[in-house]
Amino acid sequence: MDLDKYKKSYEEIMELQRTKNLDFYKHPSRYYLEPFKIAGNVYYIGDKKVCSHLIDTGDGLIVFDSGFQHTIHLMVQAIWELGFNPKDIRYLIHSHEHFDHIGAANDFRDLYGCKLVISKAGAEIFRNRPDLVYMESNPYPYASVFTPDIELEDGQTLTLGNVSIRCVNTPGHSPGVMSFFFDTVENGTTYHVGYFGGAGYNTLYKKALEKDNLPLSCRQQFLDSLKKVRDEPVDIVLGNHPLQNDTLEKRKRMQNEPGTNPFIDSTEWVNFVDTLTEKFNEFLAAGN
Ligand SMILES: [Zn+2]
Repeated sequence: MDLDKYKKSYEEIMELQRTKNLDFYKHPSRYYLEPFKIAGNVYYIGDKKVCSHLIDTGDGLIVFDSGFQHTIHLMVQAIWELGFNPKDIRYLIHSHEHFDHIGAANDFRDLYGCKLVISKAGAEIFRNRPDLVYMESNPYPYASVFTPDIELEDGQTLTLGNVSIRCVNTPGHSPGVMSFFFDTVENGTTYHVGYFGGAGYNTLYKKALEKDNLPLSCRQQFLDSLKKVRDEPVDIVLGNHPLQNDTLEKRKRMQNEPGTNPFIDSTEWVNFVDTLTEKFNEFLAAGN
């Protein structure tokens, strides 16, 4: 995880975010990643900056996160390249309401008729506080929030084909963050998959919360969310951004050492949650 960046001040991290993404905004196709199978019926279809995942349920596809609007062509290419048809997407589920995860949602529904899904809390941000989607940071000037077809409640299970996804509110990074848990089967073994929906705390600097007119209690919420899901018996961690779970390195290892699968690791979830908790506490103690 790239948590050292949070040793920087709020101003420094804002400037870093603005400048380091310019090349990605100008040349999105340079950030294409050939899609690949993670395990069982779970596939990676995101780019090198933002994760998206596809699940083949046997009765249509589920996709997690629509990414930036300006990279929709990369995701459509990835879905076809895996041998699937984007027309078969039934649910497009969003981890949280920020522009880099929901940007292409309306386009996917317009093109393919899939149902757009987000937490109820995320939908409320769309309705009442659309400024918190930070859409002005989206390089495509006409990107917009969407009207959800389904608003997920805390603890709700969404089922399609042979997959049941348990949806858990984990606010903090943003008010609408949701995390997801489901099983996948490979070679007769069942693995529990965990997707933590918002792990960055760039939004949780005091100055960021003040600017956004959000209460300081969002920071405690983040810690409570981590505690809430810590003991999930996860075997496979899905990332929200590739750097958060070393997606690219694992993919490389998978290719270089056929037969090994570094994505299957039942110690990773607890390590991920504990490291995040520890580093965030250090961040708070440093007075940010
Ligand atoms: Zn976010």
